[in-house]
Amino acid sequence: MTKDAVFIDQKLYWLRSHLEGAGYELVPKVDQTDNQIVRLIMDSSFDTYKDEPFLLSRFLILKSSTSRKKLPSGLLVLEGTPKDAHSPSFKIWFSHLLVILRILYREFECESRLNSYIADSFQNIIDSQILANQKEEIEKLNKELSLLSSTDYLTGLFNRRAFFEILAQEKKRAREFYQKVDGASPGAASTTPTFACLMMDIDHFKQINDTHGHLVGDQVLKRIGEILTSRQIFRDRDIVARYGGEEIVAVIPEADEKKAQVPAEKFRETLSKIVFKTLDGNPFVVTISIGITEFTLDEDDDRVIARADKALYTAKKNGRNQSVLYSEIPSQNC
Ligand code: GH3
Ligand code: MG
Ligand code: MG
Repeated sequence: MTKDAVFIDQKLYWLRSHLEGAGYELVPKVDQTDNQIVRLIMDSSFDTYKDEPFLLSRFLILKSSTSRKKLPSGLLVLEGTPKDAHSPSFKIWFSHLLVILRILYREFECESRLNSYIADSFQNIIDSQILANQKEEIEKLNKELSLLSSTDYLTGLFNRRAFFEILAQEKKRAREFYQKVDGASPGAASTTPTFACLMMDIDHFKQINDTHGHLVGDQVLKRIGEILTSRQIFRDRDIVARYGGEEIVAVIPEADEKKAQVPAEKFRETLSKIVFKTLDGNPFVVTISIGITEFTLDEDDDRVIARADKALYTAKKNGRNQSVLYSEIPSQNC
């Protein structure tokens, strides 16, 4: 069996021996035909690569916890990258990196198996039994592939890439629907709806990790994922995703800020009442802060996220464990 190959950015040379130890082959160069190779890039180096015609979905950007660098939407980002292997967080961070790499390579494998099945099916068109089997296999692979590439493994929520894709589809669908509605009664006021965006961030999560360990921190994220995927807070059409490490984003179609504050508060209260347990069985609680904004269908996602972030920042500044509406922040300048 050949090894999976990884390209690493110069700034990550210190990771070489660890990746090789984990069974990866390191390649010194990649070009756009190497679409089975993950590019591990430090966020501070991203600008060097961004104009090259690589497939962005093959990038895994590593970001240090102190970095404030703004990256384009939809990139796969692993936060909390330590400076070197001596850092106390290295072990847990590296295990996350290996899990993500494993998922990405599984995804590539599914893609290439899917492609070869599609190619084969043209040659074997005569045998209907073979075709039936292939159809079943293709459907299975397709499902596996789309689930793997759109879901965050820890929380079961959509990942950031899937979030922006589904949001774009939902906006397109709504735009088309309301164009028809407006077209049916010319002259009447436009019925175009607003959507609401919620940015949620666990309070003092670093402290939870530092005090109780990353495993317990992971359990908190997992439980939050269970609550949010159970649909007791959000509805089927709402888009809920893990935006970053301990940040969750949600979009509620056809809602304004006030309407969106209802599920936001329900989630905040539900979470604050859960008694979590440390590995020794000691109880602790977790709270979350939430920023809410509303937007129209023609707005750029980046501007919407920036407003939700600002409302979130205000919630943190005002003492955490609360939701804040962007429109209620004094002197907004986003
Ligand atoms: P604030 O209330 O201001 O948000 O403080 P904070 O401590 O939550 O914020 P900060 O951004 O300093 O820390 C976020 C932490 O989230 C740091 C990082 O180690 C942790 N984290 C990110 N992803 C994961 C994960 O997948 N598992 C665990 N256990 N921790 C994670
Ligand atoms: Mg955060
Ligand atoms: Mg936080």
